[in-house]
Amino acid sequence: MKPKFKETIPVFCWGNEIQIGEEDGVAGIIPDPSGSITLLVQSMNGKHTLDDLVQIVQKQFPEIPREDILTSIQALNQEGYIEDASIEPSQLKDYDRERYKANINFFSLFTSLEESKYAIQEKINNCKISLLGVGGLGSQILYHLAALGFHNIRALDFDRLELSNFNRQLLYSESDVGQLKTEMALKRINQFNPNVNLSITNCKIGKPEDVYQHIEGTEYVVCVADKPTLYIQNWVNEAVVKAGLPMVSGGVLNTRGRFYSMIPGETGCVQCHVDSKKHSDHQFERQLNFMEGMDFQRNNAAISPNVAILAGAMVNELLKLVTGFPKPIALGKMMEINFFTLDTKEISRWEKNSTCPICHSTRSNRAKTTSTEATPL
Ligand SMILES: [Zn+2]
Repeated sequence: MKPKFKETIPVFCWGNEIQIGEEDGVAGIIPDPSGSITLLVQSMNGKHTLDDLVQIVQKQFPEIPREDILTSIQALNQEGYIEDASIEPSQLKDYDRERYKANINFFSLFTSLEESKYAIQEKINNCKISLLGVGGLGSQILYHLAALGFHNIRALDFDRLELSNFNRQLLYSESDVGQLKTEMALKRINQFNPNVNLSITNCKIGKPEDVYQHIEGTEYVVCVADKPTLYIQNWVNEAVVKAGLPMVSGGVLNTRGRFYSMIPGETGCVQCHVDSKKHSDHQFERQLNFMEGMDFQRNNAAISPNVAILAGAMVNELLKLVTGFPKPIALGKMMEINFFTLDTKEISRWEKNSTCPICHSTRSNRAKTTSTEATPL
């Protein structure tokens, strides 16, 4: 073991004290009147073993016992400030370490001396994602997934590119107008990150089986498909719960973005949400019936920066589901982001309904558990 202060955490040694970090929740100040902690911290550069560090400190401060030095190192470890520089990645090559360098630095914020930051990147590289929709939200989400290093992605859409898409669909080019979005997404993602194995399906979802066929064999689902407006969520829900796959789903309203996540067998599903709304809000069912009767379709007022905010929030939630670092925030909850104020709040939450017929259809072995926490690495 070769302890190293994490490169992402700045350390400032000011005479009698050490300031570590600069963000709330990370920053700490350690009094150091003798200068021994400063010497220890400065010596933790990833080149010295624990025994080396004890020797270095005791050479200048012979009165400090070995146990006290090891206790100090363990205290820094418990605060999450240090990592083990001797841990090597098991799969990542030099190319991957360079391409995903900032990712790995970010993941290092969640690891300790005993854990590998590389394992988080490797887990992402190996993870299989289904993406439903590569329009406004989906095309930005696809970019984020490729940038994070999700190397196994299936994307589904049926639409062709129109000129009006280009106020927010940054993945495409005007010369692609009239082309299938999935095929243009494949072309662009191959250029952006050739390590991504993107398989595409041109399909207009018309029933749960269409979704099931697409997602079967993958591990996580991101749903931003929004047509037909009132039915797509139910079809996707039925397929995702049956397959037992965790999902993040969301959409853009005029001035707000909404998203939720679910783990079949652990959290409630969309049907559970609808049932709980019907139970708590007597107007809800009447409104739903009215909208179905008028074949409700939402007008699109999505502008690029707002789409980017929601796409980022949704991919962050997915990252939390996949890695467990930190915990997901939207499991069984509808989160709403106000694009004007950037306030993010929970607007409703729902539990798994024990009589929900959809939830009963899940293949998830999580159904037997009661935990709603993501499984860490
Ligand atoms: Zn349910």
